[in-house]
Amino acid sequence: MLPTPNGAPGADSIGQELLTFFINVGETFAKNLPISLALAAAFTVLTSAWARNPGRPWWAKRDLVTDLCYWFFIPVITRFLRIGLLVVGAAVLFGITTANGLVAFYDNGHGPLAALPLPAQMVLFLIGEDIILYWTHRYFHGQKMWKYHAVHHSSEQVEWISAARFHPVNLFLGSVLADVVLLLAGISPNVFVALGPLTIAHSAFVHANLDWTLGPLKYVIAGPVFHRWHHTAADRGGNKNFAATFPILDVIFGTFYMPAGQLPDNYGIDERDYPESFPAQLARPFTQ
Ligand SMILES: [Zn+2]
Ligand SMILES: [Zn+2]
Repeated sequence: MLPTPNGAPGADSIGQELLTFFINVGETFAKNLPISLALAAAFTVLTSAWARNPGRPWWAKRDLVTDLCYWFFIPVITRFLRIGLLVVGAAVLFGITTANGLVAFYDNGHGPLAALPLPAQMVLFLIGEDIILYWTHRYFHGQKMWKYHAVHHSSEQVEWISAARFHPVNLFLGSVLADVVLLLAGISPNVFVALGPLTIAHSAFVHANLDWTLGPLKYVIAGPVFHRWHHTAADRGGNKNFAATFPILDVIFGTFYMPAGQLPDNYGIDERDYPESFPAQLARPFTQ
């Protein structure tokens, strides 16, 4: 914040901070829009031919407005949570507290990991991220944390647009934490240039209403049927298939579930009075 001559933040600098905030929000929206339109077009075509659960198309789903709120606001929330945790992490673990120090520290990674070629860093990032996310996801399925994760499972019509339904607490102790741990370990933030859009597209893909099991590749990469089982009731596949990207983690840790000759249906959670609006869902864990 720019100080006034007497050292206190003035109205001008507060205005400037607010302007910067709205520019940041606008940039995040603008970056998200082209990929959203491309995904909407792709899944409109694909789900009309290979729908796992026929019925209403994605654009006519009951809680579409809620999904759209998550889809466009969650990247903004994630961005600010990530910046906050990056700043705190560098200060606590490396004693870096100046703006210039932070830029130099994160600009191109640090230490031995940053010396690796970028594709190798991308592979390490994907593996590291998926291992952290597997365990944080299991943690959020526990009794204490479920209230923050329930929103992800609450939609009864799972579609590609449902992929961003995450409570900020879930994000903070999930993907944001994983990203920051790996950047603090030294991986360059440049991995996000390619992996960012790919991760969004893959996350939309696993939530898409498609009957694709991916055949033998089902152990290699998470697909729609693999993840749709995770959205069924806990006594079916709901407490299985925790991996975001690599199902081999579920095989290793004994939670892989894709029964032969069966396909998933009936999604959602047991709580019948679960709210449907975006603000009510964000408030829900604190009012229970
Ligand atoms: Zn889950
Ligand atoms: Zn999901």
